[in-house]
Amino acid sequence: MDDTPDNHTESPGDHAVVLGAGLAGLLTARVLAGRFARVTVVERDEMSLHGPEFRPGLPQARHAHVLWARGVELMEQLLPGTTAELLEAGAALLESPRDFLWLSPSDWFRHVPGAGMLIGSRELLDWTLRRAVLRDGRIRMLGGRLATGLVGGPGNRSVTGVTFRDGGRLAAALVVDATGRTSKAPAWLAALGYPAPAVTRYDSHLGYASRPYAIPKAALDDPRRRWHAMYVQGRPESPRGGVLVPLEGDRWLVTLIGNGEHAPPTKDPEFLGFARTLRSPALYDAIRDAEPLAPPAGFRATANEWRHYERMDRWPEGFLVVGDAACRFNPVYGHGMTVAAITAQALGDAIRGLATPHIPAHARRVQRHTVTAANVAWQIATSEDLRYPGTEGPPPDRATRVLQAYMSRVMAGANTDPALSAPFFGVLSLSTPPNTLLAPGTVLRVLSKWRLPTSPRTTTAYPPHHGPA
Ligand SMILES: Cc1cc2nc3c(=O)[nH]c(=O)nc-3n(C[C@H](O)[C@H](O)[C@H](O)COP(=O)(O)OP(=O)(O)OC[C@H]3O[C@@H](n4cnc5c(N)ncnc54)[C@H](O)[C@@H]3O)c2cc1C
Repeated sequence: MDDTPDNHTESPGDHAVVLGAGLAGLLTARVLAGRFARVTVVERDEMSLHGPEFRPGLPQARHAHVLWARGVELMEQLLPGTTAELLEAGAALLESPRDFLWLSPSDWFRHVPGAGMLIGSRELLDWTLRRAVLRDGRIRMLGGRLATGLVGGPGNRSVTGVTFRDGGRLAAALVVDATGRTSKAPAWLAALGYPAPAVTRYDSHLGYASRPYAIPKAALDDPRRRWHAMYVQGRPESPRGGVLVPLEGDRWLVTLIGNGEHAPPTKDPEFLGFARTLRSPALYDAIRDAEPLAPPAGFRATANEWRHYERMDRWPEGFLVVGDAACRFNPVYGHGMTVAAITAQALGDAIRGLATPHIPAHARRVQRHTVTAANVAWQIATSEDLRYPGTEGPPPDRATRVLQAYMSRVMAGANTDPALSAPFFGVLSLSTPPNTLLAPGTVLRVLSKWRLPTSPRTTTAYPPHHGPA
């Protein structure tokens, strides 16, 4: 290793490097700090010291983000007190669907039990987690450094460090790529002589456009308003939807979505015009007189993509890939951050019982273990996306088609039936395994009582239980 200021005098054997300070990177650093004497988080963006701020490395921060209850629970286990800090800063813990106006592909959700979720700006979430992680003296942040490659050990059988665009290097016993959806790990591995990983990809060509608004005073002051958030879902034959979530500072963030040619516009006044075309006027009614706080921002790269590093025949010691860099999902199901938290937990489990000097040698097994955290979210996202005829990817097999038909009925029942809504949201929030929906009593209830309406026009403009429009 050359002698840059990044090279500590201590041995690299007790040093781990995490590339990327997104959610996956931060939680990974937290777990590794329990085992390595020093953990360095390398981030290409300069890191604000002043508070939550948008940064270019996290373009998705412009769009609605929800952290499902399972993610909140794991975040709290890893970083106790974080939830309270987030709530104090203005984030909200909501119960879905109770606190929502939520129009599912079937009908409006009624007042049924569901699952919790934490909602606030992505900037606030990242800032709060970063501060919490950096309270641990073993973890340091190296902001404004773009990682450009891996340093190979003898015969490139191991990774022993990382290179930077400015020519610097950093030595480490373990390097973890958490650089998100723009990860260059395939090229970095190729430079060390490793083949490209197999990739499975499903793209429903879902487009996002989002815009923050000041919550109108009338809505803030309205004692009859019984909702805090809204979700008008699309259906395959009417693939336009919209989400409205509260942000700290009395703001709403509105994210409009649509597949293929229905992708939402990022210009004024078309943004508002698109909101008017959803299956319910509720979202348009909420924002038509609200003051926009910024122009709409778009996002198009929403494909599900799994890079199967866990299947590679050869894998270097001392290297792992986590988070969106390994497996990313269509964001509309709100799973990426919760999966990052489940992955961090799985990483902790996988290295428990290994002496620290032995962890790098077990990288291949650890990679295989941690990536299983993505299985359920992948199954949900890809089987739901395959309902949309324009989705590109391997066609659904018979089991997936049977599951889709069954889940349509579950969804129809979950709208009103508490016995179904609780397990349905348990699975959607990644809190309970999918097979809870296949318990014999549940299957009988679903098949005997519920069916997805075939006509998209059977729903009312507003649900009856949420007070006046
Ligand atoms: C539009 C959209 C909406 C989403 N909504 C939700 C939601 O509601 N709920 C949810 O749970 N998830 C959501 N997600 C997914 C979520 O954002 C990610 O899954 C989550 O952030 C975890 O990602 P990550 O940490 O792996 O990567 P990221 O959060 O993308 O972080 C990667 C980090 O690596 C840095 N980096 C990149 N390259 C380099 C490099 N070469 N050197 C150094 N640093 C580098 C980047 O600057 C960035 O800070 C959404 C995603 C998108 C795109």
